[in-house]
Amino acid sequence: MEFIIRSKALYTTWIYYKPDRLLFDVGEGISAALGNKIYSIEKIFISHSHVDHIAGLWGFINTRNNAMGSREKNLEIYYPKGSKNIEEYLNFIKGMNRYLRFKLITKEIEHGDNIPLKNNRFLRAFKTRHTPGEKSLGFQILERRKKLKSVYSNLSGEEIKKIISEIGKENVLEEYVKKIVTISGDSLPISPDIIEDSDTLIHECTFIKESDRKLRNHTSLNEIKKLLNSIHPKRVILYHISSRYNRLINKVKRDLTENFSDIEFHIVHPEEISII
Ligand SMILES: [Zn+2]
Ligand SMILES: [Zn+2]
Repeated sequence: MEFIIRSKALYTTWIYYKPDRLLFDVGEGISAALGNKIYSIEKIFISHSHVDHIAGLWGFINTRNNAMGSREKNLEIYYPKGSKNIEEYLNFIKGMNRYLRFKLITKEIEHGDNIPLKNNRFLRAFKTRHTPGEKSLGFQILERRKKLKSVYSNLSGEEIKKIISEIGKENVLEEYVKKIVTISGDSLPISPDIIEDSDTLIHECTFIKESDRKLRNHTSLNEIKKLLNSIHPKRVILYHISSRYNRLINKVKRDLTENFSDIEFHIVHPEEISII
């Protein structure tokens, strides 16, 4: 299991990413759903201040402070720089929980900021297009990896071994950055340049039917399809879907799988917790 996701547009959204112990957004119901797993979370990244993405934070912090589990571990919360609503909410939560047994660290982040994770990984925040006047961010998990320098790519194993013994391994390898996961947050379609080469894309798809969208602040299924014509992630997880489409979820998944047979699709059903 890598992800546990609950997402129903307007109601609640949260994404638990187990490999790096991260949580993306904190919609309501999260503590009850995750139970003791809330103690494993080290960092929370908030995409924007809409209530369906933050309402569970108070409960999360309170439960973590009082339930059985290792309470002394720090909790870091990152949120878009200049988001006054989130700041006020954090101050309220801090005021309501004056005697926290763990250290609560809150930090503003903005487009282009890199946050170190463990195991050569880091997180990068990027700007998204959601509601005018609302600071919103998407997130990407990246990993620093090493590969053979391209000048040596045609050599045999034996030849490479010989060169390594002569000039040292560090001179034969070069570093590159691999995109592991890209998460859109609430947004219009993310730019293909950002997603390009990402193994997993988690993208919002609030509207299945284009005609239901009144404002240009969320993504539609047509836009997802258009996006997938220019980028090729291995896996696509669609979330933040409006519950008016509950009965269409299976059909949409079948259609997408037929049209993009080399991509593994998951659609987060608005009424269910998805374990992926
Ligand atoms: Zn939302
Ligand atoms: Zn929103």
